[in-house]
Amino acid sequence: MTTPTPAAPAARDYIHIAAEEAFAPSEMLRIYRRILDGPNPDPGFVSLLGFYMRSQSERARFIMEGLQDLGERRLRHMDESGIDRAIIALTAPGVQVMDTATAVSFARSANDELAEAVRRHPTRFSGMVAVAPQDPAAAAREVERGITRLGLTGVIINSHTQGEYLSDPKFWEIFEAAEANDTPIYLHPNTPPASMIAPFLECGLDGAIYGFGVETGLHALRIITAGVFDRFPRLQMVLGHMGEALPFWAYRLDYMHAATVRSQRYASMQPLRRKPSDYLRENFYITSSGMAHEPAIRFTQEMMGAERVMYAADYPYQHTVDEIARLEGMDIGREDKRRFFQANAETAFRLK
Ligand code: MN
Repeated sequence: MTTPTPAAPAARDYIHIAAEEAFAPSEMLRIYRRILDGPNPDPGFVSLLGFYMRSQSERARFIMEGLQDLGERRLRHMDESGIDRAIIALTAPGVQVMDTATAVSFARSANDELAEAVRRHPTRFSGMVAVAPQDPAAAAREVERGITRLGLTGVIINSHTQGEYLSDPKFWEIFEAAEANDTPIYLHPNTPPASMIAPFLECGLDGAIYGFGVETGLHALRIITAGVFDRFPRLQMVLGHMGEALPFWAYRLDYMHAATVRSQRYASMQPLRRKPSDYLRENFYITSSGMAHEPAIRFTQEMMGAERVMYAADYPYQHTVDEIARLEGMDIGREDKRRFFQANAETAFRLK
């Protein structure tokens, strides 16, 4: 194995942090097998994990092995691709596909396991707190335990929970806990829920190729338009995949939100204190996970401010050894590269 020279530490005065990296404890896969073999498993879950867990394709086996490793294999792949530090989170859909009692108890054990890996490799790994939105009060307690007792940073929520969205005020004590513990919520994709997935599934577009982005962009917008950031103005969230296309939508979102509110078309769309794009800029960080595309990165930096956009690889779903070397060649200033690869992740996730 060789390390690409452009990523060698001596060549730069900043490190490369990857902010959306996934893991799966083997116990979680056992729970997943039970769900997949049980009655009426969620169609998106069957499409995603049902495939990766059963397929013998090279890609599926690489992903399943990568997800379960929090040691030498992962570190070797990080070295190969020039990633100095990974911020790791429970892979989608995490505990959100489980029954409530299993989800609450397994979130705790997954967080304990991740915290242990972070203690073994404190300069290479950071970890996010997994929570079970199925029990918002337990989720709020786990946010506090994960941040204050386990030394984790950030909260991972894999988009909808069995078709329910965090825009519903019943979930808002999770936002309250994140704000109180000064830690961001990473709104990571999930496959579209059963109520939405059919037209995606029939053409194979339900996963990371597109369905993820549509569903998660919708979820983030629902959180904005429900007034979550008027209620929790200090709350910070993180979106992967170049913001699930929302920066590109900003102008039309602002125009149509104002027009819709003015015309009183929906009881569910009430006035906000600010424009949707204002919340996007001031309450969200965006990572490049899986979208290592210079024009998209530069546009998003222009739209959001360079202090809001950071690198992620999306390992092991995307593992491209020359990606960082290529992004080091982007036509952006050195200070903005330092922000992109290191400083913004340190700020967003309060890394020490
Ligand atoms: Mn991901």
